[in-house]
Amino acid sequence: MAHIGLLGFLHETNTFAPGVTTLAQFVEADAWPGLITGDEILRATQGMNLAFSGFVSAMQGHGHTLVPLLWCSANPSAAVEDAAFEAVVEQILTLIDQAPPLDALFLDLHGAMVTVSYEDAEGELLTRLRTRLGAALPMVAALDFHANVSTAMLRQANGLVAYRSYPHVDIAQTGERAAQMLLRLLAAEPLYYAARQVDILIPMPWQSTLAEPARSIMSVARALEGPDTPEVQFIPGFPLADIHDSGPTILAYGRTQAQADQAADLLCARVQASRQAFRGQLLSIAEAIAFIQAHPEQRILLADTQDNPGGGGTGDTTDLLHALAQQAMHGVCAGIVCDPAFAQAAHQAGTGHRLHGALGGHSGMGAGPLIGEFHVLATGDGHFTGTGPFYLGCHMALGRMARVRYGTIEILVSSKKQQAADQAMFRHLGAEPTQYRVLVLKSSVHFRADFAALADKILVVAAPGENTADLHALTYRRLRPGVTIL
Ligand SMILES: [Zn+2]
Repeated sequence: MAHIGLLGFLHETNTFAPGVTTLAQFVEADAWPGLITGDEILRATQGMNLAFSGFVSAMQGHGHTLVPLLWCSANPSAAVEDAAFEAVVEQILTLIDQAPPLDALFLDLHGAMVTVSYEDAEGELLTRLRTRLGAALPMVAALDFHANVSTAMLRQANGLVAYRSYPHVDIAQTGERAAQMLLRLLAAEPLYYAARQVDILIPMPWQSTLAEPARSIMSVARALEGPDTPEVQFIPGFPLADIHDSGPTILAYGRTQAQADQAADLLCARVQASRQAFRGQLLSIAEAIAFIQAHPEQRILLADTQDNPGGGGTGDTTDLLHALAQQAMHGVCAGIVCDPAFAQAAHQAGTGHRLHGALGGHSGMGAGPLIGEFHVLATGDGHFTGTGPFYLGCHMALGRMARVRYGTIEILVSSKKQQAADQAMFRHLGAEPTQYRVLVLKSSVHFRADFAALADKILVVAAPGENTADLHALTYRRLRPGVTIL
């Protein structure tokens, strides 16, 4: 029976975001655990919607010995500091040296990590692991739906399996698929891959598998799967990465090369035929306000997509909030503005009290802080458990939180940035999301999993933020020739 090493090292890098991502951001817990090692990973991730958890549960009963090594992730942000990447990789290699000899390796990766020195950080990681572990050792990695898949990743790993849904409600299931693939490899079953890069960049809001054309493309991929082609994947990629391999990949695994090639070519043709269908309506703030005013009977969700921390946004731009407050809109609750100093001030003032302050807008994008009097409606310690399909089971650690009223509108504030994609974020602060007419969520697509049923209408709004929805507004320099921005 095999000793299977288990690793996790996840980051989605927005190369347009300012600054760098440091080791401290990997060490700290947020919605997911911080940097943890050994059996602690099993305890900390149990029951979570994580590929690691899914892999571990799927491996039960097969008689193999699981050797948890290290797991860490940081919220999407700028390029990872070299020192952070090297420190984590060194720790991984040390743990491998200290572990019993491994027969296989499972990796829980994102697939869109860029460091200051390596634009294909996962390819670099897999290459170093391959060098250490030898050519014959089976390595399978789970990847995010937003992975930008490189040749090095494909060559160094024996298998790559990516999430199939956006919102990512199937992360744990992806770990289960990775387990199935690793079991095939351990049984010495043949597995050939065929990969096709598609030369387009798809804006994040229009990648959702709840909408066309991604929904139908995923159905076609499922129909192409069978005993001879166990995995046929459409991986849309992370477009806010100015790198050679940015964009979608079609990836098929077959029992023969011909079977893998045929499935990949069929799915690739389907994606190429749909490329002009990856579109949606992006509203200005003024257009969104006008829609709300013209439809007083409707419950409306505003997706503040460009300030989505899940795509590298700072989570603190305020332009949409300024506009809603100026219109004195009622029944509005917005989440989540990241402002640790304000959250602390709200805690000091206390529930039921008022404070004069400046909320958000400190990152320098957009209209600047909301300034004036705030009424503290509730405070929280930021520790609660995700209940929606995306953050299910996650132990949130968002630091001091508060719910405040500014004029007529309510705002949720946190000390750590996190995408507003779970109703538990509201309930932690005594707010019942079903009781508001207008919810503002700093999220692009993940919010749909837990919030879409609450709304008559969802509007995707272009307010300032680093998670640019209109990719034409960005200056790319490192894409491979021929890539078209949709
Ligand atoms: Zn993703």
